[in-house]
Amino acid sequence: MTKTVLISGGAGFLGSHLADHYLAAGYDVVAVDNLSTGNANNVAHLKGEPRFLFVEADIVDDLPESVTGKRYDIILNMASPASPPHYQRLSLETLRVGSEGTLRLLELARSNEAKFFHASTSEVYGDPEIHPQPESYRGSVNCYGPRAMYDEAKRYAEALIYSYRERYPDVQTYIGRFFNTYGPRMDAHDGRVVSNFIVQALSGEPLTIYGEGTQTRSFCYVSDLVTAITLLIDSNEHDPINLGNPGEFTIRELADIVIELTKSKSAITKLPLPADDPLQRKPVIAKAKDAFGWEPRIALREGLKNTIEYFDQLSNDSK
Ligand code: UDP
Repeated sequence: MTKTVLISGGAGFLGSHLADHYLAAGYDVVAVDNLSTGNANNVAHLKGEPRFLFVEADIVDDLPESVTGKRYDIILNMASPASPPHYQRLSLETLRVGSEGTLRLLELARSNEAKFFHASTSEVYGDPEIHPQPESYRGSVNCYGPRAMYDEAKRYAEALIYSYRERYPDVQTYIGRFFNTYGPRMDAHDGRVVSNFIVQALSGEPLTIYGEGTQTRSFCYVSDLVTAITLLIDSNEHDPINLGNPGEFTIRELADIVIELTKSKSAITKLPLPADDPLQRKPVIAKAKDAFGWEPRIALREGLKNTIEYFDQLSNDSK
């Protein structure tokens, strides 16, 4: 019998790539998205695909029968605003989707006896005092500040899943902590550094570095993350697990690479560093390697080339 996967945030950057993956693997796919930061264009290529259903709905609310009337084998909880400008604009919505939305999908997973995957984040570590970050690190998060709505929603969701599993041990839950994923279908205007720099470089605008650009991030290409998620939910690893690329770059280095790869004449301009912006971030991925033999394959330059091509095409299409 055909298996069915439900993806919340299914019209988002990551959710839409997961939809493609599971359709290619022979699953039926139901994508739910309230389109607050997701984009129907991300799944437009699936229109007419009989094994794909898109439902515009918010997982914080009662879900329509078109969603709840099916039997799921896998539920992927990918719904949440994810970039700082979006989660700050949608602060209360971010808190609610991480808490109420996650609980609703856990309940659905329990009644369906479905596997439940939750998209967590390196933001659970906040502005980390230890480097790189293993899963055992408990984090340094400001619970009352401009990143709190996202960080605490994601931390709450992990706590919720922990307690849910204690109460209902039959529910198979999985938690991936993502580190700065990038690739085609990122929103050009969501304010994240990779999309900002590429869009700025392609249009000849100055690249906006916040602070001195000495802060670091570790960027993971989307196809590597999709592979990691699929391997994780086939494994017996139920505790939170880092899913990221340990290659670490300063934001200044990223700007230089984007300028080089786009052959852009853009200048660099410096803007103030936002409050609570983490100074450094790099995953320890030994656990994912041990548990299911995963490590990322796509180096930053290669992934950026694909992403630049995507944004280039997008701007040509809109001309
Ligand atoms: N950043 C930047 N210029 C931009 C957007 C972001 O210098 O135009 C910086 C930001 O301050 C942070 C890093 O790049 O230090 C990553 O930002 P992003 O919003 O992509 O992700 P997050 O902070 O959530 O890791």
